[in-house]
Amino acid sequence: MNAVPADRHRPWSFAAGPALLPEEVLQTVSRAVLDWQDTGRSVLELPFSSRECRRILAEAESELRLLAGIPHCYRVLFLQGGAYGHFGLLAMNLISGERSADYAVTGHWGQRAFAEAGRRHRVRVAADGAADDFRAIPPQSEWRLDSGAAYCHITTAETAEGLQYHWTPDTADVALVADMTADFLTRPIDVHRYGLIYASAQKNLGVAGLTVVIVREDLLDRCDDTVPAVFNYARQARADSRVNTPPLFAVYVALQMFQWLRRHGGLPAALTRCRQRSALLYEAIDTSRDFYRTPVAVNDRSLVNVRFHLPDQEKERRFLAAAERQGLTDLAGHPAVGGIRASLYNAMPLAGARALAAFMEAFAKGGDTRAGRCAPTT
Ligand SMILES: *Cc1c(COP(=O)(O)O)cnc(C)c1O
Repeated sequence: MNAVPADRHRPWSFAAGPALLPEEVLQTVSRAVLDWQDTGRSVLELPFSSRECRRILAEAESELRLLAGIPHCYRVLFLQGGAYGHFGLLAMNLISGERSADYAVTGHWGQRAFAEAGRRHRVRVAADGAADDFRAIPPQSEWRLDSGAAYCHITTAETAEGLQYHWTPDTADVALVADMTADFLTRPIDVHRYGLIYASAQKNLGVAGLTVVIVREDLLDRCDDTVPAVFNYARQARADSRVNTPPLFAVYVALQMFQWLRRHGGLPAALTRCRQRSALLYEAIDTSRDFYRTPVAVNDRSLVNVRFHLPDQEKERRFLAAAERQGLTDLAGHPAVGGIRASLYNAMPLAGARALAAFMEAFAKGGDTRAGRCAPTT
């Protein structure tokens, strides 16, 4: 019932982002570009002061609240800047004076978040996966938390390394801040466990240009006037994300994604689909007798970014080229870690993962990889 239709006749893109969008959403969005709700206007042309603009923002917020179960004491902001932009911006908003913030550094993006915040503020590493080459998320028993920290930052899924938290850290009275860009809306979220959640849209909820920030109201008291207005969370909250021109098209696409997710069973069903897709690939890895290997600790394997390696780089190059010829694209690993990476975000149908798993099995056997053909050629 909650299966996502595999109605595509285009390549399956396993890109880390921007990612696939569901056919249904692309259809609705294309219509809205030409004629928004039979008004003869394009959604791209709605003035930012218009009632329509305010309505799209309000509807996107209420749909997201429903989908993710966001409590009343949290504000939802639709901002620009990308997650990378907010690495530094969230520190400016949440750290006052000489206070410092804690970071659990678990991979490429956690490192970037730490470095950006550290440009202007005191930050410290509370947990460090680097010593173990980011093969696992350090267990909470090894974290050294500062009870006076402004917040503790985590990256719920490390896109490059293929790690994902399958538990929520307990930071007591210190606000937990999470970059959820890779796995936002791919599973139910205990929003009340977090002080602030943020995510770029182009992986699981639409197109680039939008960053969703969900922030507990009391934390907004910390944003002082030295933070530029457009990126001042408190000011944006007071202005309903309209301090300046909002990225309305990206919000409109996100709204379609929120509604699409609800039509397909909400976040519990999204999680089931994540498990099904990733299980196919992990099974192909685990049954390949070491032809495919992943360094990621079994308990920390990501359901959204499956990373693996072949016996040597020459085989990896041939794997990528052969996959591409079969319409399985954008599988090269992040440059920081190399190898292969299959990103399986919200809009990837099970059929896409099935096609890749079949290809992997055929390629490992050295047989005719065309047996795993999945996308019609032109
Ligand atoms: C992609 C990604 C980012 C960067 O997002 P931008 O929109 O390019 O700024 C940050 N964090 C994580 C976990 C990501 O996957």
